[in-house]
Amino acid sequence: APGHLYPQKCERCGRVGATIPCRAAAGCSRFYHFPCAAASGCFQSMKTLRLLCPEHVAEAVDMEDARCSVCNGPGDLQDLVFCTGCGQHFHGACLDISLTPCKRSGWQCPECKVCQTCRQRGQDSAMLVCEACDKGYHTFCMEPAIQGLPSGSWKCKNCWVCSDCGRRPVGLDSNCQWSPGSAVCGDCQQRRATADAPTVPEHTPQLDPPSQTLESPGPSEPMDTPMPPPELEPVGGDEETQPLVDPTETPPDPTEKPPDPMETPRDPTETPPDPTETPPDPKELP
Ligand SMILES: [Zn+2]
Ligand SMILES: [Zn+2]
Ligand SMILES: [Zn+2]
Ligand SMILES: [Zn+2]
Ligand SMILES: [Zn+2]
Ligand SMILES: [Zn+2]
Ligand SMILES: [Zn+2]
Repeated sequence: APGHLYPQKCERCGRVGATIPCRAAAGCSRFYHFPCAAASGCFQSMKTLRLLCPEHVAEAVDMEDARCSVCNGPGDLQDLVFCTGCGQHFHGACLDISLTPCKRSGWQCPECKVCQTCRQRGQDSAMLVCEACDKGYHTFCMEPAIQGLPSGSWKCKNCWVCSDCGRRPVGLDSNCQWSPGSAVCGDCQQRRATADAPTVPEHTPQLDPPSQTLESPGPSEPMDTPMPPPELEPVGGDEETQPLVDPTETPPDPTEKPPDPMETPRDPTETPPDPTETPPDPKELP
């Protein structure tokens, strides 16, 4: 086991087998695994294979390759990130990315960035870059494949977390769908939809208005509709002729007589129409 050969514990993860020491001039007791060094923000030189821990990173200013490939200067050495592909350094600020341990670990510069699925470069127009880890993924290598680049922020399957239940794609049941474009997993989406659905009070289900009465009469409808004779007035109880009633409203007293339409002439242009003025369903006419 590597633990026997390299008993040094890693400064970042605490496990044995750390092989890379900090080479500070004054001496330093810190050791790192290779990926842990990058995540910690150590300065790593491909040319001299020298590593400086974050505390001693300032000593890199004298090193030949402590230069940002964009601005050419050492600048803020704490903000330098090391490309595992070409070994060049870049300032996070010069690439407009805020460096995190997750992004630093296994980081690849824009030139070296490969798709995490097929390990191929190129096709920048089809390369999605995860906003959390800065790793690349071809849209056509995704499962399922994505058409075009998403306009908003995008997180890969390793970084995406459901904002409701906190599960990651690997932690989801196989039948729970997730999409990197949505904030919640399939299960939570379903839960939200159920919670958002309007609940109809159970004691007044018969007052649920039929869908056809939800629409107010169109403006093209003639305004001089003759008032129906009182004897043809629809009788309550029939779903087809049920007047438009607010389902939350208490049902009217059945013993109460509806107002006589002849006694209370109303403006026919007024909306919504008085239920007693609703013409009877044509299907009910003789
Ligand atoms: Zn480690
Ligand atoms: Zn050190
Ligand atoms: Zn720079
Ligand atoms: Zn590179
Ligand atoms: Zn790919
Ligand atoms: Zn990611
Ligand atoms: Zn969830």
